Amino acid sequence: MVEIAEAVRGERDWRDVSAIAKMHDGKIVETRADASDFFWDLDELPMPRWDLLSLKRYWNIARPHGGHFKPGAELRYAPLMTTRGCLFTCSYCHIAGETEESVFGAIGRFRLKSDERALRELAVLKGLGVEQVYIEDDMFLGRKERALRLLRKIQEAGMSISDVNGVNVVHMFRKDALRRYEPDIDIIGALKEAGFHEIVMAFESAAPRVLRKYATNKWDPERMPIDRLIRACKEYGLSIGGNYMLGYPDETRREMQQTIDLARCHKEAGIDWVNFFSVMPLPGTPLFNESVRDGYFSPNFNPDYMDWTKAVFKNTIVPPEEVAVLRKQAWEEWNSKEFRENKVAMAVLA
Ligand code: SF4
Repeated sequence: MVEIAEAVRGERDWRDVSAIAKMHDGKIVETRADASDFFWDLDELPMPRWDLLSLKRYWNIARPHGGHFKPGAELRYAPLMTTRGCLFTCSYCHIAGETEESVFGAIGRFRLKSDERALRELAVLKGLGVEQVYIEDDMFLGRKERALRLLRKIQEAGMSISDVNGVNVVHMFRKDALRRYEPDIDIIGALKEAGFHEIVMAFESAAPRVLRKYATNKWDPERMPIDRLIRACKEYGLSIGGNYMLGYPDETRREMQQTIDLARCHKEAGIDWVNFFSVMPLPGTPLFNESVRDGYFSPNFNPDYMDWTKAVFKNTIVPPEEVAVLRKQAWEEWNSKEFRENKVAMAVLA
């Protein structure tokens, strides 16, 4: 950011600014990331200057992108990131594209801030009047002991947590003496005590082939008893949502139906709502490059028109129009009228 500002002021050549894209002579030109800019130790990053932001204005006009609140509710929230990156590399995710060889550098690597650093940031936010923090980590539960410790300390600091961005299904389980998966009651109890009302879990697909190919095998539909996990969360008074994706480039009708059926089973086990998303090949992800290479997607497509409700691939086994209908039908069929109306109201008010 500082380099960009210097380049805009004419104090530095823009070609020396690390990892930017710029229109030059009618063409988009990218500069590469400078490896020396990479912070392995996140504690070395300067503290964010939140005091320079108009937080009150954000509270009035915007909303965190998750959490439990009513439309129109007064919030005094701010994001907090205690880790960066992720241990998985799902092909539709920006993380998977953020490798050493990429223009961004290896910023997708999983890195953690120390407890002291995370709590220092929290104290600054509290001093600015923030009451709810939204943990933006993509993999907050990646180190469970640390996550449990931090949840406790955030509570002790008198702040409430409105939500965590990334909850991986695998982290909601532990293995018993026979190496079988069982719901991790310590994690569920700690989330509840920290003030959570709801947890949203990313299942993405029910088809093992799809999970293997696109989602780094990040959960195991055959070995993880999701019905028991849902029941355990409900016993702790937590609402549970599930996220599912339809329309992977080579996904078959049968695999899509498997996912819709899985969401139905989750509903029957007590999950509160199920979100269905169209798969989006966002630029910068491996999925984007592979889809262009394999003829599923045009490189000239305007990404501004991508939307999680639209199916944008071409030459797929299931035509995009059918994927869009399947997604909409599943969302309408398996969610209550109240949930659907609330979602629409939140989108309008945000
Ligand atoms: S688990 Fe989530 S954050 Fe991690 S790579 Fe997959 S989609 Fe991205």
